[in-house]
Amino acid sequence: MTFRDASDREITYLRISLTDRCNFRCVYCMPDENMEWIPRDEILTFEELELIVSVFAKHNLKRIRLTGGEPLLRKGICDLIRRFRNLGIDEIALTTNAFLLPKFADALKKAGLTHINVSFDSLEPDTFKKISRNQKLDRVLDGLQSAQDAGFENIKLNSVIIRGINDHEILNLVTFAAERKHILRFIEFMPIGLGTVWGDTSVPLGEIRQKLSEQGNLVPEKKKMGMGPARYWTFSSNSISPTPIGFISALSSCFCDDCNRIRITPTGGLRACLADDREEDLATLIRAEKTDADKKRVVEETVHRALAAKKPSHDFTFDEEVNTLKRMHAIGG
Ligand code: SAM
Ligand code: SF4
Repeated sequence: MTFRDASDREITYLRISLTDRCNFRCVYCMPDENMEWIPRDEILTFEELELIVSVFAKHNLKRIRLTGGEPLLRKGICDLIRRFRNLGIDEIALTTNAFLLPKFADALKKAGLTHINVSFDSLEPDTFKKISRNQKLDRVLDGLQSAQDAGFENIKLNSVIIRGINDHEILNLVTFAAERKHILRFIEFMPIGLGTVWGDTSVPLGEIRQKLSEQGNLVPEKKKMGMGPARYWTFSSNSISPTPIGFISALSSCFCDDCNRIRITPTGGLRACLADDREEDLATLIRAEKTDADKKRVVEETVHRALAAKKPSHDFTFDEEVNTLKRMHAIGG
């Protein structure tokens, strides 16, 4: 039977953060220096992840997303994807900054990865560097090309627009996505952890839609697309043929009614909501059991407990300084 939460929502989507480490330092996600990484022995092993996912597989899990930190920094990721596919999970998605895709795209495809989302905030090297604190935009562009060459279709680009930094690039990002047949989604900045952009620097998605409406036709899609929180519109102009654009807004329009997900942090924290710091310590609980059968029983009980406590919606707000103390890279965005 499918797992259900306290609001009777079906939970069919598991997001797994494989590491808190990253080769970028995006301003909205983590500070530039003095990062303290989780010790490696505290991170869930592949065997533990396989055991946990085997329980979800029995409860009609439809999709897994591998995220982080930067998930491609986790050694053996292709092996993990194969293990999940062998458990009968047909949709396995990856969220990545694309830097390592030139190296991994082919192997990921062969291992059975089905979907890729790429963080992509700028087409200008200087702006890209300001946001990601990494110099190699070219490498990210190569990564996108490698993924397409490997056969990945409908690659999604996630863009966070920051006032005064990349808000002049909105139409350029739309044009780039349309030309390359990527699906662009604008993500509203979320007040999570201790990122360094805040309140006024966040551009509400309504403002982005307004700007696009001034530069072409922007029409809301009637039918829901995908399993996620994005709401889609179609943009077209004299130079851009009709192209879908997603808008993911935690603050200006709450998407919780359709929530279908649960998360596992790198250290095995079972987190029912991105914005709620309460976590069940799945790692400690399963390590305390001796047999696989007992470990699986504990996973099942713990998932039920976490879902019974899942709130109907998040309470993100810019009124307080931060809404969750953990940073996005340590939860798995
Ligand atoms: N490193 C990978 C990447 O960047 O795609 C995966 C992890 S990253 C935490 C996942 C997504 O979270 C990215 O698309 C990023 O733009 C988004 N993100 C990080 N911090 C955010 C914040 N404070 N508000 C909104 N989105 C954020
Ligand atoms: Fe790394 Fe992704 Fe966070 Fe950027 S958003 S610092 S790429 S984890």
